[in-house]
Order: sequence, then C-alpha cells, then structure tokens
Amino acid sequence: MSTFRIAVVGSGPSGSYCAQLLSEESDQPIEVDVFEQLPAPFGLVRYGVAPDHPKIKSITMSFSEVFEETPGVRFLGNVRVGVDITSSELRSHYDGVVFASGAPLDRRLGVPGEDLAGAHAVRDFVSWYGGHPDTPSNAFVLDGHRAVVIGVGNVALDAARMLVRTTEDLRATDVPQHIVEAFTASTFSEVVIVGRRGPAYAKFTNKEFIELLDLENCDVIIDPDDLELDAAQQEYLDSNPAATRLFASFRKAAERGALGRKYRIRFVFDRTPVEFLGEDGSVSGVRLAKTSDPTVTETLDTELVFRSVGYMGKAVPGLPFDTETATVPHRDSRVIDGEEEVPGVYIAGWIKRGPTGVVGTNRRCALDTVTSILEDIGSKSSSASASTVVDELLRSRGVQVVDWAAWRRIDEAERAAGESTGRERVKLHDRNEMLQFAAGDVIRLG
Ligand SMILES: Cc1cc2nc3c(=O)[nH]c(=O)nc-3n(C[C@H](O)[C@H](O)[C@H](O)COP(=O)(O)OP(=O)(O)OC[C@H]3O[C@@H](n4cnc5c(N)ncnc54)[C@H](O)[C@@H]3O)c2cc1C
Repeated sequence: MSTFRIAVVGSGPSGSYCAQLLSEESDQPIEVDVFEQLPAPFGLVRYGVAPDHPKIKSITMSFSEVFEETPGVRFLGNVRVGVDITSSELRSHYDGVVFASGAPLDRRLGVPGEDLAGAHAVRDFVSWYGGHPDTPSNAFVLDGHRAVVIGVGNVALDAARMLVRTTEDLRATDVPQHIVEAFTASTFSEVVIVGRRGPAYAKFTNKEFIELLDLENCDVIIDPDDLELDAAQQEYLDSNPAATRLFASFRKAAERGALGRKYRIRFVFDRTPVEFLGEDGSVSGVRLAKTSDPTVTETLDTELVFRSVGYMGKAVPGLPFDTETATVPHRDSRVIDGEEEVPGVYIAGWIKRGPTGVVGTNRRCALDTVTSILEDIGSKSSSASASTVVDELLRSRGVQVVDWAAWRRIDEAERAAGESTGRERVKLHDRNEMLQFAAGDVIRLG
C-alpha cells in the first residue's frame, strides 16, 4: 500500500485539527506536513486568544500531542507558502494540499480619518500584545486618556479588558515583558465601546461581559436610557435567550452605575462613527451619529481608536477568491474555480467559512475537509514526492525550517524566561531571537 502525503498550510486550529483527523481517520498509510509561516505553531490560539484566557489557550497541549506523538505528522515552521515554496510546488509534491491559512486582514469602516495615527485595526493591537513576530515591539505607546473601540464582539471586549488590566494580572499571563511595561505605563483611564445598533444586538457573550463586571478596579458604565428597547429589539430578545441573558446583565450594570474605581469601560449603543477627527496627523476625536436618528451627533475626544468590526480573509496566490465573502470558494471543502474543482486542493477553517466561530468550530469544519480528502484519495495510489525532496528544496533556498524539535527549543526558552522572572512563560516577540533559539545558537535570554 503506498503512503499518501498531504500538505497543510497553517498550524492554527483548523490546520492542527486537519493533521490530527487525517491521521486518525485514514485507513491507508498517510503522512502530513504542516507548513507554518511563523516560527511558532497554533495560529490565533497563540496570537489572538486573549492572554488572560489561559484555559482556552490550553488546547495547545492537545495540538502539541498531534505534532509530537503522531507518526507521520511533521511541523515545518518559518516556511511562507507563496514565498519560500509556491502552492503549485506543493500541489506537485503532495497528493493533496489543504489551505488552513486563516483570515489575516481586517474590515474597514470606510469613514474619513480612518488612517490617522492612533486609529488602528484592533487586530494590530491584539497582535502586538500577543507578541506576534510581524508586529513591531514598539507599535503602541499607551499615552492618552480615553480609548474608543468601535464594535461589540468578543474581540472588542478583549482589547478593552487588556487596557484596564493591572500589572499583577498581566504578570500572570505570557505577554512579553516590554508589553507588560507598556501597559503599566499606560495613562488611559477610560475605554468607550461603541455599538452601531441597539443593545439587544450586541455580539459579545454574556460570559465575556460578566468578566468585565468582575474586574475589581473598573467601573462598567451603561446609560439606562440606552436600554430603552424599540419593538424590533424587544422581538429579537423574545426569540433569543442568549441575547436576553446578556441584556439582563446590561441592566445590572446600569443599576450598579459608577463606583468610583480607577478605570471605566463605558458602552454606548445605537451610534455610528461618521468621522475620525485629527490634529497634526493624529486622531483627536471620533464623531458619532445616533444610528436611529443621524441628526443627533456627538464627539468623543480620544487619542486611540480601534475598529473591531471583523477579521477578513486574504486571497491565496493561484487560487480563486470570492471578494464578497473574502473566502476561497469550495464545494464540500474542495476548492472550485467557477463550477470546476481544482484537483487536490482543499480548504479548512476561517479561509473557508469566514472569520466566525470558536476554536472548537474548526474541528467540525476540519472533519468535513478530511472526509473529502480521504474520499478522493481512496481510489488512487499516491503520486507524492518523498519528504526529502521538499526538505532539499527548502534547504537549497536557504529557508531555516523550524521543525517540532526546534519549536520546543523556543518553547523552553520562553518557559525559562518565565521562571527567571516568577512567571510561567514569557513570550519571545522578535523573530530573529526566536530563530536563534530554534537553531540552538543561544542558551539563555540575553
Ligand atoms: C482576537 C481573537 C480572539 C479570539 N478568542 C477566542 C477565544 O477566546 N475562544 C475561542 O474559542 N476562539 C477565539 N477566537 C477564534 C479562534 O481563534 C479561531 O476560530 C481560530 O483561530 C481559526 O482557526 P484557523 O486555523 O482557521 O486560523 P488561524 O488561527 O488564523 O491560523 C492560520 C494559520 O495559518 C498561517 N498561515 C497563513 N498564511 C500562511 C502561509 N502563506 N504560509 C504558511 N502559513 C500561513 C498563520 O500564520 C496561522 O498560524 C479568537 C479569534 C480572534 C481573532
């Protein structure tokens, strides 16, 4: 029986689940190479999920088992598909290629002033505090009095919460030390979260909202007038138990009011941002209009604005792309160009479904992908190249592949850095430093 070889692009949840499920579900011998552009695995679990949510991040332990203990599964980190190796090369060397490359861009608001200094995609902030190697370590200086977050999803709440965390809270996370210091030096005392629609339609979960109410150093402010519901919102609540629970928590917050704490997170609903105002090229305010009555406007002074209105997929060179949904079109996870299937090319995760769903959603999604792959290869024999051919190709191009053993050296360096400062782990932020540890060139943080 020949051994099938599958390439997976991306080691986030969808790529990791694909690797696991391909090995578990295949009746035939199968090898899986997971290509990852970063020197570290796990995608948004490492670089998106909030650092103060360690329980969610602990899924990395089960993904690690996939790479460490499953025969035939390899991690090839620090390899950029499309730069270090092309997707057509992958297609010629493997029996199938799965793109699980996520949604690395962000949606824009389309309002004047959106590009002023100090106005950012929340993605940039999340990547920065998560220590993403492609985000400069000094990308944010938290110098101002009020931050504004446009959007009412869980990511908006993550960003707001991080801005009011104490140094002690942050030291319990894995964020790089210079970022703990940047938050410690922050002068922001208020975060305003702006929802375009009424409170009934807020997208974040009740669990995340209650987490804000539980912060001891922070007031959560909601104007009771903002909780007056129109008939449409009432109807929405009546048919939506999760929204009803969240709305009850809003009422609690409104009743509790201000308690004079050091920080405040204030929610405003039914407001549309119409313009970012600037001074000397930097944002100085956001003009909001009431969504239900655009003649009513107000201006919030601010030095820092995050638009948090969704991540967005990016076209994969050589593959069709639906610009409307920012996803790669597919039929049963098989990539299609018009009505035609692109042979041997599959997708999984956010590049397939768009940027929605929690980590676990990607398991079901990956299972659908794996089912199609196994159906397709079931009737064939393998025509893949040996693993040494791809390895030699990358070597000839001077790519420093971070395999699982090399990632473990980075991992150990991060744990050692944590131990020396009384923390569990301190993430490395700098790609070159990560690569030095990966190569075994350095034996301690210096
Ligand atoms: C800020 C934020 C917070 C979140 N918090 C939670 C939470 O608390 N709980 C929860 O359950 N879910 C959370 N999620 C959702 C969860 O992270 C996603 O469902 C999940 O990460 C999507 O998985 P994915 O594999 O499709 O994409 P990703 O996790 O983005 O993984 C894609 C991977 O592909 C790699 N890649 C991309 N292009 C290439 C290329 N050309 N070559 C090689 N590699 C490439 C990327 O580097 C990345 O590692 C959060 C998401 C965000 C954005």
